Amino acid sequence: MAIFEKDKEYIAGTYARFPVELSEGNGSLIYGEDEKEYIDLASGIAVNTFGMADDEWVEAVTVQASMLGHTSNLYYTKPCADLAQMLCERTGMKKVFFGNSGAEANECAIKAARLWALKNKGEGNSTIITLKNSFHGRTITTLAATGQDNFHTDFGPFTPGFVYAEANNLESVKELAESNNCAAIMMETVQGEGGVLPLTEEFVKGVCEIAKEKNMLVIIDEVQTGNGRTGKLYSYMHYGITPDIVSTAKGLAGGLPLGCTMLGEKVKDILTPGSHGSTFGGNPICCAGAISILSRLDDEMLDGVTKRSEYIISRLSECKKVKSISGKGLMLGIECEKPAKEVIASAMEKGVLVISAKTKVRLLPPLNIPFELLEMAMDKLIEAIEE
Ligand SMILES: *Cc1c(COP(=O)(O)O)cnc(C)c1O
Repeated sequence: MAIFEKDKEYIAGTYARFPVELSEGNGSLIYGEDEKEYIDLASGIAVNTFGMADDEWVEAVTVQASMLGHTSNLYYTKPCADLAQMLCERTGMKKVFFGNSGAEANECAIKAARLWALKNKGEGNSTIITLKNSFHGRTITTLAATGQDNFHTDFGPFTPGFVYAEANNLESVKELAESNNCAAIMMETVQGEGGVLPLTEEFVKGVCEIAKEKNMLVIIDEVQTGNGRTGKLYSYMHYGITPDIVSTAKGLAGGLPLGCTMLGEKVKDILTPGSHGSTFGGNPICCAGAISILSRLDDEMLDGVTKRSEYIISRLSECKKVKSISGKGLMLGIECEKPAKEVIASAMEKGVLVISAKTKVRLLPPLNIPFELLEMAMDKLIEAIEE
């Protein structure tokens, strides 16, 4: 049976896939079954931090896989402890919890915030403010946290206790904080799925002020923006704030499933044995992959992200059929005159992989994409936008 038919026959219909079968990749180049070459500007949705089959990452992961794979969290393993230390030292957060995905990282953030509120503010302070147009995951609770009405149908009853503020509108946050007994506010600094929309510095800092006044925690969802994607190790670092909880996943382990919830001073000891857990979480193989990625996300690499971003923006700004460019670092949204769908299909035809975010074309290239490939990709993408 051909792959498209087999997929349709045996796989639940949750994905509207592009009609392309990918079979191999190397860095920022991916090859289709038919040997067609693609320059990858999507990184598997911001997951393959250094592209496909990155040498150091493959080495780290295969050495670990051949030595010690899954153990469960009933035992200690070195990669897990080393990665946790590395994350805390690089962020100033105090402790971490490892899960397997972005949604789980947010679930843990929500549980930690509610438990903190119960212990520090008493019963009835469990409400969490999130932002309209946000995206926090696909579980029943993270769907509820997602501030988009179209995610709140069909699967009810949803987890109660979420209210939604307008992004970049401090009055809206203030009002909700006044009229609810809140545990926390949770936000993405750049709304990824919502259309690559960054929050303003004034807003992010203002939210932290309100949180301080109201004794609420600040949770930053860095599932997409984290791990160097925006040109800082974590995107909250652009704003000079200290969040109480940071969740991340996607790019953390460079292509393996690993989620992480980082806990700051106030919440570092809130989770105790039995209060939370994960069978796979902190798997040594995923952690070894993450150590390989994180240890190379140094200032030089992050500068490279900013330089590549500036190059992309300068190329696209010259394009008359580009209406706007939004985002930060190598997380960019392009509003084109043509519908995003057509641009994406045409770019794919020309050998460039890009994806969408709402009505925009979204770029999430590997953070180390060589400039020559980026230049070729821009030539082709601009053709796709202009033709
Ligand atoms: C992708 C994403 C999630 C969900 O991550 P999964 O690994 O798919 O569960 C949550 N929050 C943000 C901001 C994301 O971009």
